[in-house]
Amino acid sequence: MAKINTNQLWKNVQEELKVTVSEATFKTFFSRTQLVSLENNIATIGCPNQYFCEQTELRYYSLLKDVLDRQTKNNLSLVFIVSPNIKYHPPAGGPDTRKMGPLFAHPEPPNSLKPPKNFDPTTGLHPKYTFDTFVVGNSNNFAHAASLGIIKKPGSEYNPFFVWGGVGIGKTHLIQAIGHEITKAYPNFQVLYCEAENFGNEIVAALQNKTMPRFKKKFRSLDVFLVDDVQFIAGKEYIQDEFFHTFNKLYMGEKQIVLTSDRRPEDLAGMEERLVSRFAGGLTVDIQLPDFEMRVAIVKQKCQEKNSQMTEEAIQFLAQTIESNVRDLEGNLTQILSRARGETVSLEFVQNFFGVKEKAAQKKVSSRKIVSEVGKHFKIKHQELVGPRRIAKIALARQIAMYLLKKELDFPLTQIADILGKKDHTTIIHGVDKITRMFSTNLNLRRDILAIREKIYS
Ligand code: ADP
Ligand code: MG
Repeated sequence: MAKINTNQLWKNVQEELKVTVSEATFKTFFSRTQLVSLENNIATIGCPNQYFCEQTELRYYSLLKDVLDRQTKNNLSLVFIVSPNIKYHPPAGGPDTRKMGPLFAHPEPPNSLKPPKNFDPTTGLHPKYTFDTFVVGNSNNFAHAASLGIIKKPGSEYNPFFVWGGVGIGKTHLIQAIGHEITKAYPNFQVLYCEAENFGNEIVAALQNKTMPRFKKKFRSLDVFLVDDVQFIAGKEYIQDEFFHTFNKLYMGEKQIVLTSDRRPEDLAGMEERLVSRFAGGLTVDIQLPDFEMRVAIVKQKCQEKNSQMTEEAIQFLAQTIESNVRDLEGNLTQILSRARGETVSLEFVQNFFGVKEKAAQKKVSSRKIVSEVGKHFKIKHQELVGPRRIAKIALARQIAMYLLKKELDFPLTQIADILGKKDHTTIIHGVDKITRMFSTNLNLRRDILAIREKIYS
């Protein structure tokens, strides 16, 4: 790769991000990052502290990669490191959480989780997130059906209702939609949507201002309590304790509790057992990444909302290209539409947007190199990797090889099947899909894949 001015590149990336994400997200995450280096197809991104590194990687890996890939016309891997040069400016006016000790391990709550502008301050509900605009497909139809059950009889059957899944797949949209419907059906109900993190912030403020009784009353008198991203209270004992009492009071009074999380209850490390068992005591559902059909439906829905036109082929191409999650799909669509300036978006326009031709031109690595690096990484012999054995470790490595052959070389499925000694290309589709899904939710797997990619290109 030619020597690139990293400062200028990062400026361009930030400019692009500014139009893609909300202002709050941009300020919280991207304005405080820096491109430390770009070598051997690895972009090293500096963040102010470890918490930032993890959150940025978890939430914005694929978005950042897309933008960087496009700017550099390359296929990069991203690594996040703590870079002490980046100054951290705490927001003015908030409670001074530093005095609260390890309870508040990270210095600032990510603002991006705050409800966007226009939300109703009494309920915390945003007019954008309703069932009218919520696309139902294979990945969320169970969660959707269960939600309808809750709306019919809040507090009775599915309590608590626990929805989990990776970032950007519609958890917030869904529980907000539940809130809207219940408010419509039961106008006297007190409904409150609250991010678990804000619940924590409110406790801090109440402690500082000596308003705990008011805090307790506010939360314990609700009819419907919608708690988003409950994983944030893991590891925070005091908040968990208060949450536990709020939960019990509502539960005993047959009030509806809806929770979302990025993982299932039993995987919430640092969450007290008594909370985990209560979370799992009602109905737990997951939302998966949308499949192709659903991504197409989502693009169509968003075009309609934005009053914009795309040809069928252009929609399909976009839905094929972005497999990560709905938020990324929407982010890319927003950029495409803003560049199209009201014109109907054609297939060619979308292809150019993704720099398809440039990507095809840089296929340098060989399939043999990919298979051999996967084998080395997992310490599995070549014959085993391309053989029939199905023990879990070998099967997973084989699926990672399928994934990399598809993503890095874009080989036809039948050719990948040949390389890996499989008769049937549907096995390959299944393997690539599975790893694609895991890539966005499983940090360990992502690290394995990044390490292998690094080797492939070094
Ligand atoms: P999560 O809370 O799981 O991180 P969000 O609910 O914030 O995800 O969804 C991210 C974006 O994608 C939002 O703009 C949301 O409206 C949109 N979105 C997600 N799922 C759907 C869906 N099934 N139909 C329509 N839009 C969706
Ligand atoms: Mg959310």
